[in-house]
Amino acid sequence: MAKILVTGGNGFIGSHTVVELLSQGYEVVIADNLCNSKPYVQERIAKISGKKPVFYQIDVCDAEALQQLKEKEGRIDGIIHFAAHLFVDESVANPLKYYRNNLDGLITLLEVFGGEKDIKMVFSSSCTVYGNPETLPISEQESIKKAVSPYGNTKKVSEEILYDFAVSHNNFNVISLRYFNPIGAHGSGLIGEDPIGHQTHLVPIISEVAAGKRAALKVFGNDYQTKDGTCVRDYIHVVDLAHAHVKALDYLLNDKNNDAFEVYNAGSGTGYTVLEIVAAFEKASGIKINYEVAPRRPGDAEAVFADISAIGNRLGWQPAESLDNMLLSTYNWEKNLTK
Ligand code: UDP
Repeated sequence: MAKILVTGGNGFIGSHTVVELLSQGYEVVIADNLCNSKPYVQERIAKISGKKPVFYQIDVCDAEALQQLKEKEGRIDGIIHFAAHLFVDESVANPLKYYRNNLDGLITLLEVFGGEKDIKMVFSSSCTVYGNPETLPISEQESIKKAVSPYGNTKKVSEEILYDFAVSHNNFNVISLRYFNPIGAHGSGLIGEDPIGHQTHLVPIISEVAAGKRAALKVFGNDYQTKDGTCVRDYIHVVDLAHAHVKALDYLLNDKNNDAFEVYNAGSGTGYTVLEIVAAFEKASGIKINYEVAPRRPGDAEAVFADISAIGNRLGWQPAESLDNMLLSTYNWEKNLTK
């Protein structure tokens, strides 16, 4: 079975993807520097999967450490590259930290592994590359805008680097998955989103309010041109997203790609406003969510949701989880964290 290097495999989407890879029989090697995840995730992955992946606590910007991993592991058939800094607000305050880490990590990875005879990569990109889209739902043909944040720009530039590298190396094939808003947690309740530092995402924050950890949700702006004035987003269950990575990898390993660089949206295809999410959470959990309207958050796009026909047609991937399950599994995970 193919051996896959998962960078950032200890993180939120990374750990769920590792579980899916192991359940499909892939051999998994994780490289993670634990800058935004905790060591307990390793044992939890093993508990869910009955298998413990090989783990290297290394930084993907460290060429020497990557080289040693490569020599020790021998053959690597594919890479799923998650390792990156991901806080939009931090990237605005400290852009060089983001450019240094996210671009250096990708370039180093390509330098160490890109010359292999046949290497396949799935790259973790983001719908932030579309900015404020002109057409909804957003297809992959939507024009790429100047990214609003340095974080978003690292994703845009990373895609350009990958494209150029794929053009110059015949044996390198890559899929960039542009995620919409990943939420939810594994059904076992053993892994979920547990960042080091502050939480900024809507559904985990709603869950914190429900769990009594926060007094109220701040709804950032209610004067957008949407049905209730609040921003529209496309929420995707992290387990569905993990499946999308495995599908993308299978597709590349089976040489089904037409082009050396392909991009696909990974969302649910449905947009919900912030207030619709609050109402859906209240209905699913039976818990009233206190909220107050606050000013708009700088850099927020008004409405973003995906056209997912391309990923369905080409990779055969469809999201399967319901909105209720996304919300309740996030809440259950929050309760486990609070415990
Ligand atoms: N949001 C909000 N209050 C919060 C966090 C988020 O109103 O405390 C809104 C935010 O303005 C956006 C949506 O919820 O419209 C999703 O934000 P999130 O940070 O989860 O993801 P993003 O779309 O920014 O990647």
